[in-house]
Amino acid sequence: MATFKAMVIDKTETGTKAALADFDDANLMDGDVTVRVEYSTLNYKDGLALTGKAPVVRRFPMIAGIDFAGTVESSTHAAWKPGDKVILNGWGSGETHLGAYAEKARVKGDWLVRLPSSMSTREAMAIGTAGYTAMLAVIALEKHGLTPASGPVAVTGAAGGVGSVAIALLAKLGFSVSAVTGRAEEADYLKGLGAAEIVERAVLTGPVKMLAKERWAGGIDAVGSTTLANLLSMARYGGAVAACGLAGGMDLPTSVAPFILRGVCLYGIDSVMCPLPRRQEAWKRLETDLDRPKLAAMTREIGLNELPDAASAIVAGQVRGRVVVKIG
Ligand code: NDP
Repeated sequence: MATFKAMVIDKTETGTKAALADFDDANLMDGDVTVRVEYSTLNYKDGLALTGKAPVVRRFPMIAGIDFAGTVESSTHAAWKPGDKVILNGWGSGETHLGAYAEKARVKGDWLVRLPSSMSTREAMAIGTAGYTAMLAVIALEKHGLTPASGPVAVTGAAGGVGSVAIALLAKLGFSVSAVTGRAEEADYLKGLGAAEIVERAVLTGPVKMLAKERWAGGIDAVGSTTLANLLSMARYGGAVAACGLAGGMDLPTSVAPFILRGVCLYGIDSVMCPLPRRQEAWKRLETDLDRPKLAAMTREIGLNELPDAASAIVAGQVRGRVVVKIG
């Protein structure tokens, strides 16, 4: 029996439990490409899955992990051959399809994006789904017509994964970025990524006014709930907010006022089922528009065995920047 190491989530009498296990090759799911996984990452959703705090996992046993980068081992898909370097984000990995925290993954070739030539598999996963989502959000704001001349933009959940990458990207593109954070002690880190201003999280978690003083031309929100509602009410006339997260809650206690009185647009960002051409565009942009030294500064590496502790930390909002997971 051939096996490989994997972080497996299984059901228990009281809920679910994640543990390192030897997984039987024969139990891999259908797919036309088999990948030797080199790196994965820890995203907020991975934290929810590993801790069992939300019903992310839809089949058991499940190999956790929503994203990976690695090398094609075998393929019957026309686009891929052994030796190709690939990235996978989402598509149900770690939710409905056996996931990324494993030495081996078998997936659909249609799900894969080619690793940009100047990027290592480790750098791709330092970016991970959080960073690729930040890029999708930046592209949404650009397509809306926002430019640095439009005015300052806000990034909420600033010291987290999506937030850190969003700040670095927006700063490099010339935007004046307000980093909204609950961790004042991370001010130097956030300024190092390019934030022009640090805004205390409480500014956006208070009671929501239908319309507040116009402050930002746009924003990228990883938090949801009152934070997103306040961001919308503080958006300037014609502004845009890209919503991608729920770290502060899934509700949205807003009114129509920002939309019908200020023409503000709210863009929804989904990384999981995002069509391939938009993924390819995002990864191409990440190759050129994300400063690599800044990426290195926001990243730390862990092994598969450290995942359970790291998962508890990310769900508690205690992880700074990005966590890359070395496989094998
Ligand atoms: P992180 O945990 O790294 O970052 C989230 C940040 O949000 C924290 O660092 C913290 O920032 C802030 N935060 C946490 N809890 C609260 C709270 N209760 N109230 C206000 N702010 C809070 O997670 P990620 O960056 O990986 O993901 C961020 C969000 O984006 C998650 O909800 C995730 O599910 C979502 N996401 C969505 C995707 C999509 O496809 N739409 C893809 C990837 C992520 P600080 O300490 O600076 O305040």
